[in-house]
Amino acid sequence: MPKYFDVHSHLNAPEYQKDLEEVVARLKETETHTIVIGTDFESSKIAVDLAEKYEEIYACVGIHPVDNRAEYYDISKYGKLVKHPKVVAVGECGFDFFHADKFEDYERQRKLFLDQIDFAITCDKPVMIHARNAYEELLEILESFKGKLRGNVHFFAGSKEVAEKLFGLGFTISFTGVITFTHDYDEVIKTAPLDMIMSETDSPYVTPVPHRGKRNEPSYVNEVVRAIAMIRGEDEEKVRIALVNNALSMIG
Ligand SMILES: [Zn+2]
Repeated sequence: MPKYFDVHSHLNAPEYQKDLEEVVARLKETETHTIVIGTDFESSKIAVDLAEKYEEIYACVGIHPVDNRAEYYDISKYGKLVKHPKVVAVGECGFDFFHADKFEDYERQRKLFLDQIDFAITCDKPVMIHARNAYEELLEILESFKGKLRGNVHFFAGSKEVAEKLFGLGFTISFTGVITFTHDYDEVIKTAPLDMIMSETDSPYVTPVPHRGKRNEPSYVNEVVRAIAMIRGEDEEKVRIALVNNALSMIG
C-alpha cells in the first residue's frame, strides 16, 4: 500500500519532459502513487505509456472539456486504450465555463461529456470530472445518471451545498494544494465525510505551500494531506491512511 495517493496529476505534460525520471524517483522515495490524467488522445496515450512503465503510476484516459476543442470522442480509439489494466478511470471530462463561453460552447461540451459518461458506464470505470464555473450544469447531468455512474470531482472549488449533493450522488471530491494557501474550502473540508474526499496535486499547477514558486509534482501531495488533517482537526496519520484507502477503492 502506498503512503500517499495523488489522484490527479499531469506527469504527461511537457513540463516533465526533461526530468521525469527524477520526478518518478521522488515518487518511489516518498511512496506516493499517482493517476496521470489525459486531456486528449495524445496525452492519454502518454499517460498509458507511463502507467505501463512505472509501478507508481496509473492512467486516466479522456478529453478535457476545453483543452483540445478540435477533438471529438472516438470510442474505438479510447476503447483500445482502456483495455490496459492500469487505466483506472475515464476523463478528465466535464464542463468548463471559465475558459469557454457557456452560450457558445455548452452543446459541444455536453456531447463530449455525455460520450465519455456512456463510455465509462460501458467499461465500468469511474469518471474523473473537471468542473469550472459549472457545478449547476454538472449536477443536472449527474442526477440524470444517478445510480449508474461513479467517480470523482477533481479540484473541488464549490460550496458545502454542492459537495453534499455530490456525496448524495455517490461522488467523491478531491482537493489540491490550493487548500494550503486559502481558507475558502475549510468549511467543505471540515464537514465532508472522511470517506468521500481525496488528495491530489493537479501537477504541474497549483503548487502547495511550502513549495510555492516551484513546479508542482505528485510527491508534494503530503502537504495537501497535512492541510486536510489540520483543517479537520484530525490525526494526520488517520487522514493519510483514509485518503489512500479512498483512492484505492475508487480505482478498484
Ligand atoms: Zn487536470
